[in-house]
Amino acid sequence: MPGEVNVTRRYFLPQLLIATVCGWLLLCLWGQPAVAAIDVTEAPGELNLSPEVVLLEDSDRTYDIASLPAENERLPWQASGQETLNFSFSSSAWWVQVDLTNGSEAVVRRLLELAMPLHDYLDAWLVDESGEVIRVWQTGNRRVFDSRPVAHRTFVLPIDLPPGETHRVVLRLDTHDGLFDATPLYLMDGASFLAKSQRELMAFSLYFGALLALLTYNLLLYVATRERALLHYVAYLGSFFVLMFIARGFAFQYWWPNWPTFNNQIVPLNIGVFILTLAMFTCSYLSLHRHSVWLPRVLYGAAGLCLLSAMPALWGHYGPLFRTMIPSAILLSTLLLVVAVWRCWRGDVLARIYLVAWCVLLVGITLYFLRVAGVLPYNLITEYAVQAGSGLEFLLLALGLAWKINQLKNEKLEAERKTHELQRQVNQRLEAEVRSRTRDLESANRQLAAMARTDPLTGLYNRRQFLTLVDEELGCRRRLGQAVLFVVMDIDVFKAYNDTYGHQAGDEVLVKVAALLKQHFRREGDHLFRLGGEEFGLLLEADTLKAGYRALERFRGSLEALRIPHQGSVYGVVTASFGLVACEDFEQVPDAQALYSQADQAMYEAKQQARNRIVVRNLLPENT
Ligand code: GH3
Ligand code: MG
Ligand code: MG
Repeated sequence: MPGEVNVTRRYFLPQLLIATVCGWLLLCLWGQPAVAAIDVTEAPGELNLSPEVVLLEDSDRTYDIASLPAENERLPWQASGQETLNFSFSSSAWWVQVDLTNGSEAVVRRLLELAMPLHDYLDAWLVDESGEVIRVWQTGNRRVFDSRPVAHRTFVLPIDLPPGETHRVVLRLDTHDGLFDATPLYLMDGASFLAKSQRELMAFSLYFGALLALLTYNLLLYVATRERALLHYVAYLGSFFVLMFIARGFAFQYWWPNWPTFNNQIVPLNIGVFILTLAMFTCSYLSLHRHSVWLPRVLYGAAGLCLLSAMPALWGHYGPLFRTMIPSAILLSTLLLVVAVWRCWRGDVLARIYLVAWCVLLVGITLYFLRVAGVLPYNLITEYAVQAGSGLEFLLLALGLAWKINQLKNEKLEAERKTHELQRQVNQRLEAEVRSRTRDLESANRQLAAMARTDPLTGLYNRRQFLTLVDEELGCRRRLGQAVLFVVMDIDVFKAYNDTYGHQAGDEVLVKVAALLKQHFRREGDHLFRLGGEEFGLLLEADTLKAGYRALERFRGSLEALRIPHQGSVYGVVTASFGLVACEDFEQVPDAQALYSQADQAMYEAKQQARNRIVVRNLLPENT
């Protein structure tokens, strides 16, 4: 049948082509990729399952496990091809499917871990070769902790595979409101799971332990120093600690396992508080209020907005919340960076430390968010970037705080030194002032004392001083056994002088007479007094009465020789009469008053003898 052969040959190629295209179209339409079952006995102890699974998007949530096996072949399953399952923001539910074979002759147990503690809903089924569902799990972060088959911070499903059989694992991942996080999926044997859990627990213990140590230490430092930046640091670190404790699934496992709703609400609220405490810490750490009034307000405002945008969480809305919170947090971060750069540029060492610390954290957070957004793949670096970055950041900031406290201490010491210096200067000024005032006062006192014993017109001692001084002098002479010479001098017919020449001219005469007295009686023991009116007293220092008399006579002559005209006087000039007393017997002259009285009487005798003369009253013993 050569013709048939030719016909067959003629149509073979187009038929092959059509069959291939149809097959390809079918594959595209239903998307059922040919993913072979995984023989778990040949797989490594820890297998990343994400690239091995097939995915089905359930946009309208129409599929269910009852209908799925029957319709499975014509549904648009897609090979995952992802290193980590990541649906990011998606309003669909996602079905994940993988076939597991046990190639050995014994029952094998494997653990399937969905390593995202915050995943909302996880429904899982184990289906045998006949399509019968043999295990069902319903768990997730929005269901109580007891819903988990294994008490672990992530979701761990134990899968038992009978020898030589293939079972299908079907997962349905759904969210409360469309926010998926990157969801690593592992298949592990018991030993690998134990090793991985211990490894993680050790790393987290070290991390949280270090954060707690920093928190406690700085809290104690705050209690000791009352430095506000330390308190803000503690609040900032505390809110971050809680946030991480929740994000890693520990808070739900240990703190509130029966409160899944609260466990979800607290996440955005905690992020808001964290951002607010970050702003507060930045303001106090960089002492921004010293440099700008409005800057702290702007930062507080932006942080407050972040906290406010977390509020819808209280009513169960998360997706839109994160859509606004992430950009506003990035905006605030940029603002903080700009502020830190500005302070750095102004030479603030604290700002430099802050900037380095902040950059380290920012790199960590950016990597994390880029992973959440599905831009970066899930791996060790993107998974633990926030931990590493934040640990380093908090250490650097603690160093910065130590620096700040040192700076404050130095500022305080400097302020104290300045205060002391100021105090010293004030004291010095005060002491100088007091000294000067005291000097003035002493001088005023001296002046007052001098005025009290001096006659203002003539500058001679007054009558009060006469009584004091002559009494002292009498006592002194009495002790030494010396004689006293005392004179009362009275200007002659002075009333007539005043009447003729005026009172002013009379004063001038008194001044001239006093000056002349001072010229004549200059010995240390000579004391001159104006006793009143035109009457003077002279306590003379003289070796003998004769010598005293001669000195007095010289003075009388000099006064006359001044030739001060006086019409009323028989001498035509101003003259004076003198009564001179010399005594040694102090019984007779006991005090100044008695001495004056004696001299006054002698002076009156002189007046009676035509004036302008000296009358001596000698009270000395005969032979003196
Ligand atoms: P006699 O020679 O007897 O002392 O006569 P006299 O006029 O000096 O004595 P009298 O006691 O009558 O007068 C004293 C006069 O001295 C009266 C008064 O006008 C004058 N006199 C007293 N004190 C002052 C004074 O401070 N300044 C002036 N200018 N005159 C005075
Ligand atoms: Mg007189
Ligand atoms: Mg007189």
